[in-house]
Amino acid sequence: MAVVPPRQVAVLSVANYDEVFQVGGRAAGEAVLESLRNMAVTLGVDPGYMRAMDERTLLLRLDELPREEFLAAIQGMAVRTRSLTAPTFPDLMLKIRVGAMSERALRSLVNDAAHDLVAYMNHLDLPAAFLAADELDIWQRMGSTGVDIISHEQLKYYDSFTGMLTIERFFDLLQYAMDDPHLSENMTILYFDIDDFKSYNRAFSHEDGDDLLLFVANQIKEVFSADVTAHISIDRFAVLTSSPDIVSKCAKIHAATRAFRLSFAPEVKCGIYRLSSESVTPYVALDCAKLACESIKGRYDKAYCCFGEDHRDHLFVRRYVAHHAERAVTDGWIRTFAQPVIDTRTSELCGFEALARWDDPERGLLSPAMFIPTLEDARLIHGLDICVVDTVCRHLSECRAQGLSYVPASINLSRLDFDLCDILGVISKLCDRWGIPHELLAIEITESAMQEESNLRVEIERFRAAGFEVWMDDFGCGYSSLNLLKDYEFDVLKVDMEFLRDMETNVRSGKILVSVLEMARSLGIRTLVEGVETKAQHDFLLEAGCDMMQGYLFGKPRPLELGL
Ligand code: C2E
Ligand code: CA
Ligand code: CA
Repeated sequence: MAVVPPRQVAVLSVANYDEVFQVGGRAAGEAVLESLRNMAVTLGVDPGYMRAMDERTLLLRLDELPREEFLAAIQGMAVRTRSLTAPTFPDLMLKIRVGAMSERALRSLVNDAAHDLVAYMNHLDLPAAFLAADELDIWQRMGSTGVDIISHEQLKYYDSFTGMLTIERFFDLLQYAMDDPHLSENMTILYFDIDDFKSYNRAFSHEDGDDLLLFVANQIKEVFSADVTAHISIDRFAVLTSSPDIVSKCAKIHAATRAFRLSFAPEVKCGIYRLSSESVTPYVALDCAKLACESIKGRYDKAYCCFGEDHRDHLFVRRYVAHHAERAVTDGWIRTFAQPVIDTRTSELCGFEALARWDDPERGLLSPAMFIPTLEDARLIHGLDICVVDTVCRHLSECRAQGLSYVPASINLSRLDFDLCDILGVISKLCDRWGIPHELLAIEITESAMQEESNLRVEIERFRAAGFEVWMDDFGCGYSSLNLLKDYEFDVLKVDMEFLRDMETNVRSGKILVSVLEMARSLGIRTLVEGVETKAQHDFLLEAGCDMMQGYLFGKPRPLELGL
């Protein structure tokens, strides 16, 4: 006998099951399902057609009911469940979601469709019941009763990896909440980011990386079970919540994530932005939470941060920078500063690093920390980097023409430059134009750029084959620096200034620094230590055999045209 697929299914699900469980355990949960069963019976549903789908959800198979009666039953349940309290705990209001599915939704396996529907409904902490329907015309009349209708199509708003909402859906719901003064009054947006996730992936495996992502996603879903939770990009998540105890919830997620792998202690950071009466778009609102989150990146003493006045200024500058990026380059707002590099043994000037400054007509000098990340986000960074190379080449060319002494320069490239343009081609052309031999230029690439999976290795080889030096910048601040030495060929290792800072308080830092210098030497790589500020540091580095030094002790960055 052929199995006839069900045609009409409804689900009743307890969105705040966790609360019920907390006050009365499993027994209280069962009592709630029992009361839902009884309610359905009073509406004419045969108990033989009901079963528990999981601990919080009742599935009703209502094939026998004529369409009109089915609709009426659903409508009745949606209305009745709005004011239900938990049996034996009359103070606990239940949040029941009522869902119904029509034939088309049921063509897929009934349980899968029902699970999708339940997951969707339980993600929403809204007062109305929800119905899933495809034949919207049939369901339209429900609209007038204050019952919201969603279609099966909308169930696709789920991210299949984490089961959370997608970013598009998150923005829809955020807009919905923001449009309703009642809802937005107590709403807060949270932005979660796993610090240094790429290092984690590299240190272990991609499967391990996926496990960590799922773990964090599940923590967030569990801790904010009654709220809207979304997966917004690989290692970032967002939550829209009205919960009063956000801080303790963030701390819980943070602690659980650190404990997930003690040898690495992954950090998940949270930025918090409270919706207020100020009119911002959902995008800006999420950006505010993101900015607060970014402000504590890499800090081990903070797990969360609320959006505040400082961030507001920052946000303003960011938007300003993104809007004026092209103008800054064409109108000469980008200036090149130079910081001397000293040969340790001879104490003589042996080069300079070119550092960009944004000299704004309204705001004065902006530091790279204000504009580099923004230009990277806006994918406009190559314009600035090319501008700096052009200025450096022109400067060297003028020195040569006037018979002045000059030293080689190193310039900072962003990882994105390689994607955004043919950076080697552009730099080579500029050198040709100004008559600059390639040996006079070195490119600095940060260690973190090399953690990404990309064809950077090939690009680095192309630069070296073309006669440019390639320097690894900020060595030692990432997790797997040593691995990089194995995989990439460099001319110079620039050791991050944190090493020198740490040495004051941690003797081991000094020892590590000495062995890093030794190792580089044995690999035939020259070394440069940044951030040298004191005579004691200078002496230490001389003793340790470091080739070059850079830092305030020898000179701060100053405008290139003023000389070194
Ligand atoms: P970086 O390449 O690691 O540059 C070194 C930074 O350390 C510079 O900051 C420099 O002013 C500062 N510094 C140098 N000596 C000392 C010292 O003795 N003590 C202390 N406390 N700091 C010192 P700056 O100029 O603010 O640049 C910050 C970062 O911005 C750079 O880090 C680099 O990653 C990025 N950047 C700067 N110019 C450019 C550019 O033209 N293109 C790109 N893509 N990035 C740039
Ligand atoms: Ca640099
Ligand atoms: Ca550096």
